[in-house]
Amino acid sequence: MQATIVYEGAQVAGARAVAVSGGRIVGLGDPASLRRRFAGCTVRKVSGTFVPAALDGHLHLVEYGLSLGEVDLLGLGAELALARLQAARQTLGSSAFLLARGARPQVLQALAQDPESLLALGPLRVWAQDFHTVLTDPATLRSLGLDRAAPAGGEVARDGRGRPTGLLREAAATPLSDATKPNQEACDRAARIAIEALWRQGIVGAVSFEDEQSERSVARATEDLPFRAYVYRYAGGLAAEERPAALSRRAARVGLKYFVDGTLGSRTAWMFAPYADAAGFGLPRLDPAAAGEEMRARAARGFSLALHAIGDRAASEALALLRVCAATDAPHRIEHLQIVAPELPLQLAQAGITASMQPCHLEQDLVEAQRAWPDRLGRAYPFRALLEAGATLAFGSDAPVEAPSLQLGLRWATGADAVGGGEFHAIPLEDALTAYAEGVYRSVGRRGGRIAVGEVANLCLYARGPLADPEPVLVLSEGQVVHSVEGAYLEQASEA
Ligand SMILES: [Zn+2]
Repeated sequence: MQATIVYEGAQVAGARAVAVSGGRIVGLGDPASLRRRFAGCTVRKVSGTFVPAALDGHLHLVEYGLSLGEVDLLGLGAELALARLQAARQTLGSSAFLLARGARPQVLQALAQDPESLLALGPLRVWAQDFHTVLTDPATLRSLGLDRAAPAGGEVARDGRGRPTGLLREAAATPLSDATKPNQEACDRAARIAIEALWRQGIVGAVSFEDEQSERSVARATEDLPFRAYVYRYAGGLAAEERPAALSRRAARVGLKYFVDGTLGSRTAWMFAPYADAAGFGLPRLDPAAAGEEMRARAARGFSLALHAIGDRAASEALALLRVCAATDAPHRIEHLQIVAPELPLQLAQAGITASMQPCHLEQDLVEAQRAWPDRLGRAYPFRALLEAGATLAFGSDAPVEAPSLQLGLRWATGADAVGGGEFHAIPLEDALTAYAEGVYRSVGRRGGRIAVGEVANLCLYARGPLADPEPVLVLSEGQVVHSVEGAYLEQASEA
């Protein structure tokens, strides 16, 4: 018989103790009765509140792991960003690629106006926070041939005198990505680093967007680490005859990702009406009429489709495309939904399509949304409208775009009325927690994310609560302690 551990003294689904054995919850109740029932058990005294451990509903596991080794410019102004890059170049020596990410669009613009500093920093690759624009130095630009021509679907930004600035948008970033592409070994390491970082946040699984190489890394890492991964592959990189498949003991390839539009920060999200602060309606990244046939064929092979749609026009186009696709084990889904038409929430719910959203994006995006959509903020970040319409909400972080902090996401999901516009966006904490656990399981056609006897023991202990605490003090994945802070529990043998 497997050893049983009783955690007692904390709130846990209305009880005061939980018994864990063989990776599952085997008992819930008061401490004395669980000690009696599981004679010879180990007792761990804890305090605080247990909640179901989270699954991140949308992230890039390997990219996130890689990003933890890069220079982080998130939230910095131009001067500080430049200073941090210069310090990193000093440490790195002169020849290796300097890799950074998280820059605001305005910061990239400012850096691009200083070619001498860029030359000294090179070889350089700085991603904008949204990963749709990248900055490089003049020498790298020349060596990649990007000073002469831009790849189709991309833009090489030029200054007033027609010289390239080093800013590369959308497909023009690809040659630079390829030049700095990590090898398999680096990706394998990154997957493990990412999982350990996510455990510390109380996240024991994720829906992850990967390419062929990084999917392999996810498969390898989840074979032995207790972390569940549901992989969506970028549609263009997977042969038409492929099918959904198990990848490891804990990972499966369930779907395919398509991009319908760009991002708010780049003003390439596809809108019904022009932006308040930029020309145009954004940038469609696929032709719905042309893409529909392939999507239907892929869905017929069992793939759940995940459509990236940030603007309201993109969301409505995505919905129209998904409605005519065959139903699959994991429901089809729309990623981001940062602004929607008034009728969309109900239509989405009725079609059984998952709303995959990232409340933490408001941390960086709120200022952008206020500039771009001041006249339609009421329809932006519509967590509450989707919840009330009955849609499945699956919350995530989009790491490395934003830090995978549950507290950050919960704060914005429950306090999103700061968005303004006279409408309500915020949802109750309980519903937000559901969207980070049960909702994500449901989004991949699985059950889980509840604290009940018989369920997998995926549990997080918070000293005060997930909204108040930046991190849990104890995290169990499949009953194993995958993260704990000093003094999180006091262990004793029970009297047999
Ligand atoms: Zn993403």
